[in-house]
Amino acid sequence: MARMTNFKSDHVYDLIIIGGGITGAGVARDAALRGLSTLLIEKGDFSSGVSSKSTRLIHGGLRYLANFEVDLVAESLRERSILRRLAPYLIRPIPISIPIYKQDAHGRAIVSVGIRLYDFLSREKDIPHYATYGRDRTLEYEPRLNPDGLTGSALFYDNQIILPERLVVENITSARDNGASVYNYVRAEQIQERDNGVVLMARDVFTGEVLTARTKVVVNAAGPWVDTVRRAGGIDSAPMIYPTKGIHLILPRLTERALFISSRDGRMFFIIPFGENSLVGTTDTKYADDLDNVHANREDVNYLLTESRRILPGTSLTKEAIYYTYAGIRPLAFAGRSESKISRKHRVVREGKTGSIITIAGGKYTTYRNMAKDTLDTVCTALGVRSSCVTNTTPFPGGLPVEYDEYMSAAVPELALRYQVSPESVSHLIGLYGARAEAVLEMAKDERPLGERISPESRDVYAQVLYSVREEEARTVSDIILRRMHLGITASRGLPQAERIAEVAGRELGWSKEETRHQVEEFQKEIQKGAAFQKP
Ligand SMILES: Cc1cc2nc3c(=O)[nH]c(=O)nc-3n(C[C@H](O)[C@H](O)[C@H](O)COP(=O)(O)OP(=O)(O)OC[C@H]3O[C@@H](n4cnc5c(N)ncnc54)[C@H](O)[C@@H]3O)c2cc1C
Repeated sequence: MARMTNFKSDHVYDLIIIGGGITGAGVARDAALRGLSTLLIEKGDFSSGVSSKSTRLIHGGLRYLANFEVDLVAESLRERSILRRLAPYLIRPIPISIPIYKQDAHGRAIVSVGIRLYDFLSREKDIPHYATYGRDRTLEYEPRLNPDGLTGSALFYDNQIILPERLVVENITSARDNGASVYNYVRAEQIQERDNGVVLMARDVFTGEVLTARTKVVVNAAGPWVDTVRRAGGIDSAPMIYPTKGIHLILPRLTERALFISSRDGRMFFIIPFGENSLVGTTDTKYADDLDNVHANREDVNYLLTESRRILPGTSLTKEAIYYTYAGIRPLAFAGRSESKISRKHRVVREGKTGSIITIAGGKYTTYRNMAKDTLDTVCTALGVRSSCVTNTTPFPGGLPVEYDEYMSAAVPELALRYQVSPESVSHLIGLYGARAEAVLEMAKDERPLGERISPESRDVYAQVLYSVREEEARTVSDIILRRMHLGITASRGLPQAERIAEVAGRELGWSKEETRHQVEEFQKEIQKGAAFQKP
């Protein structure tokens, strides 16, 4: 069934949030949990902006220590520990090795001091710490490393979130379950501050319908687009964002362990195991083009391939080997001497004629919860209400009732037996949905084919398609495959399965034959953007 976008017309919201990336989703959850009347609108799908374009690490940011940003690293490590406690099914510790070469800007002694300080600041004492290795041990565990000039390596631990899109969904559904109204595909077009509050004019992207809502304050959480939204509110002072672009390459598996490597220009980037494949990135270059059309260009791709080849000379690091690329814009809120020196700290700014437009800019995916808390503290001051943040202790919708290992050892065999599916499939679903995996399996029970594995590349099942449209606000085939399921990050990105998925979704959403075909074509177009470098 088509969705009716229906703002409460006779209602004055406490806050309207513009932007459904991790920042806006986090603000919506915090606001709803504080009991505020909340509306969130997103012009595309939730997490379709930069929140789905990151390196997929929940990390302290070891390299920020080189910029002496100890407070930012401490904040990020504190948040890393909170998020892993709340969503251990999505966020897993990952060992990362730093190979050290004679010509590197930072030698073994400096790197060793850095990882010790990082470990000291870390609150997660339950994950292994750091270690340093000589040249021979380093080559033993990663024989593909270039031995020329290699002096040894340092090992430290961070956390990986293979599907950051799913943590956005957790925040959005938590906000909705706690009373917030959340809409994707609704674009904010005009914000009018009046003496008795704010009027927001928005447009339903699918129907073109103009929608109006009244609110006490607006939270601008539009990421790279925050200055466009500020202008829509009549604020035309200096821009808040210093945008830089970063790209990633997905290639066949290159290494056993994650590597954090120095390039010749002194920057650092990752080569990270990514399921069956490897993720290589990122770059950091100034950006002044269209924010709605960001892609990897030839220069970005050559940079990462050339620098990776120096460290892994015998591996298939060619343009032809790339499965796909993706690119995003960092919504940085400070200026800096060079791109990688720009601080990743966040700012909350209250602006507008009546002080009713609150913009949250900068920050990192990792620190979104703290960013949301700071934003809500400013919102509450503007509203004149007292409330406290509970997002550091309130479980997500998929939250586990007991520790991760304990939960897995009991739930996996129990659910596999009850629903007659393999233990691997149950583990996979828990890794995406946490405790809500059971609800997905329950849907698969009703119609047998829904329990079928979708592709040899992923353990996803067809029931997830239904779950995403019934429970997780997915509205298009791209939403389902790219931002709700695992299939979208595999080498073929779900292209071979798109038609079947469109049929399953179309039955639920009432799509005609033409609409179903259109949906598949739109998905293929979205995939094409990232495939441009397969056939240069
Ligand atoms: C290459 C790269 C790698 C990164 N790696 C990491 C990492 O490993 N770890 C980490 O912690 N951080 C990382 N980051 C940073 C992180 O991705 C961002 O800080 C974070 O995702 C920002 O989220 P956001 O919600 O503010 O922005 P977005 O996700 O872009 O959300 C803003 C949303 O606002 C919507 N919007 C805009 N205008 C309107 C409008 N008029 N009406 C309605 N909606 C609107 C957009 O569609 C968008 O979805 C990385 C960033 C980049 C670019």
